[in-house]
Amino acid sequence: MSDAYKIIDHTYDTVVVGAGGSGLRATMGSAEAGLKTACITKVFPTRSHTVAAQGGIAASLGNNSPDHWTWHMYDTVKGSDWLGDQDAIEYMVREAPAAVYELEHAGVPFSRNTDGTIYQRPFGGHMQNMGEGPPVQRTCAAADRTGHAMLHALYQQSLKYDADFFIEYFALDLIMEDGECRGVIALCMEDGSIHRFKSHAVVLATGGYGRAYFSATSAHTCTGDGGGMVLRAGLPLQDMEFVQFHPTGIYGAGVLITEGARGEGGYLTNSEGERFMERYAPSAKDLASRDVVSRSMALEMREGRGVGPGKDHIYLHLDHIDPKVLGERLPGITESGKIFAGVDLTRQPLPVCPTVHYNMGGIPCNYHGQVVTKKDGNDDAVVPGLYAVGEAACVSVHGANRLGSNSLIDLVVFGRATGLHLKESLKPGASHRPLPKSATDLPLARVEKFRNAKGGSPTAKIRLEMQQTMQKHAAVFRDTELLAEGVTLMQKVNKRMEDVAVTDRSLIWNTDLIETLELDNLMAQAVCTMESANNRKESRGAHAHEDFPDRDDANWMKHTASWFEGWGGSGGKVTLDYRAVHDYTLTDEAEYIKPKARVY
Ligand SMILES: Cc1cc2nc3c(=O)[nH]c(=O)nc-3n(C[C@H](O)[C@H](O)[C@H](O)COP(=O)(O)OP(=O)(O)OC[C@H]3O[C@@H](n4cnc5c(N)ncnc54)[C@H](O)[C@@H]3O)c2cc1C
Repeated sequence: MSDAYKIIDHTYDTVVVGAGGSGLRATMGSAEAGLKTACITKVFPTRSHTVAAQGGIAASLGNNSPDHWTWHMYDTVKGSDWLGDQDAIEYMVREAPAAVYELEHAGVPFSRNTDGTIYQRPFGGHMQNMGEGPPVQRTCAAADRTGHAMLHALYQQSLKYDADFFIEYFALDLIMEDGECRGVIALCMEDGSIHRFKSHAVVLATGGYGRAYFSATSAHTCTGDGGGMVLRAGLPLQDMEFVQFHPTGIYGAGVLITEGARGEGGYLTNSEGERFMERYAPSAKDLASRDVVSRSMALEMREGRGVGPGKDHIYLHLDHIDPKVLGERLPGITESGKIFAGVDLTRQPLPVCPTVHYNMGGIPCNYHGQVVTKKDGNDDAVVPGLYAVGEAACVSVHGANRLGSNSLIDLVVFGRATGLHLKESLKPGASHRPLPKSATDLPLARVEKFRNAKGGSPTAKIRLEMQQTMQKHAAVFRDTELLAEGVTLMQKVNKRMEDVAVTDRSLIWNTDLIETLELDNLMAQAVCTMESANNRKESRGAHAHEDFPDRDDANWMKHTASWFEGWGGSGGKVTLDYRAVHDYTLTDEAEYIKPKARVY
């Protein structure tokens, strides 16, 4: 079969898959260490989803209010609802200020205070004095286009180093041998050639899988391809039940309105014009963490106080803010309001509703970026040769719920940490063993099968069914019945992959084929998400189970690991197990933050 495909071989020290914020930072670190580095990306680097990040990046610089890294640590642990690993969280918050200054020096045009320091805005769940309050101003921003500024600066910087970019190449599968990662196989989308990358390390920086849902703020390219590759390699994903709903997606369009809008003074009202967040979170109000605000909105709508004819959305008010301030600090969302809702933000409220935004779950790894699995009783067994960073990874710093502006900092801190670990563990130009003969078997079988798929269900139809099932059954609120039904329905939807129809048989820019490969990756992760959610009999962070409304630390303070078998609709069997949460810090300078009730 492989005779039909042109196979081109490459040899590198490091191959990074993904050129978003995390992939570019890891590429820079690896290349800077003198390692021969390749970066493979399915879209042009500056079109990665990081470009869409609006609100900002968290670091305890203390420019606009007093702050300390231990306060940032406290908020992140509390935000995670005590599912985050505290050693990794300590690492992230301590490295955060240096990472922001590094970005500043790389050319990110941060918004400024009058004294020239970086301007910082308040964001949900970020407080002063170990959670006591008042809210802290910790989020550094370049107006409301922070991700755009960051990604462009990082891409420009990465060109300074001697890394090879493979742009518009679609990574298909990892090359695994005896539990070790030996490289990766990619498809050049332009001409259909297959590229076999032999490398000492593969870094997966492929982003989230938000597109498993119908209404999501993420780009259409956020299809969790790295997670799919890991599952096919027989490795587990972690904490897939924790999916973040952002409180303010524009109703109908799903386009994001940054939390920075509430940071700058915006507030939510129901059909009675009431500022209902004052009831749910008396202290943090509209700046409570995202899961809390999303659930409060869902409750208001469920109790008949939603706005609009269907009572199915909520108003976000910015009309009381000085138009000059809006123009300066939130120009992008002022534009989005006009384009996607036909609303002039300076005069009218904006219709919004909770929209899927971020995947806390992903590829389990430690704070060096090394992928880990559970093996022979060891919860932290390192998978040699394999790393993961960014939203694709689950370090886990965000636990059951990520705080706003903590993802961008995660990208650069752990992208850099991965580069440092590669520098320490690899020798530039070290020789390679030959790859196993079977290296291309799995990816070529998949390409061949889907390219020639003659079933009766077009990819887009199966995808829509999956997205609607996830939207309804793994939503903001979950209960036993809804989840059990969701498991059955997702098994059915998954089974339809056997009947998938691809009409384009060519190898030149075959988007029909690419979307089917992406759907295959999404499907496995959607099934894992549903089954992990069905399994967790408690409420924690983004997982709000109505029949088990309380957090249950005695039984459930543990990470879910999920393995998947039976691809292409041929089974879809999920195996679940657990990994221990790291209930220790990295150094003695940080104190372990003991669990308590999470109120805002
Ligand atoms: C609208 C929006 C606004 C946000 N705002 C903020 C914010 O203000 N602050 C904050 O902290 N977080 C924010 N987030 C979250 C944050 O932006 C993302 O979590 C983060 O940017 C993800 O970066 P990444 O490097 O992991 O991946 P991405 O930026 O998603 O990039 C993924 C990369 O992987 C490549 N790739 C994927 N699959 C393949 C494949 N099969 N083969 C080859 N290449 C592949 C893609 O080409 C791309 O280069 C926001 C998210 C969204 C959606």
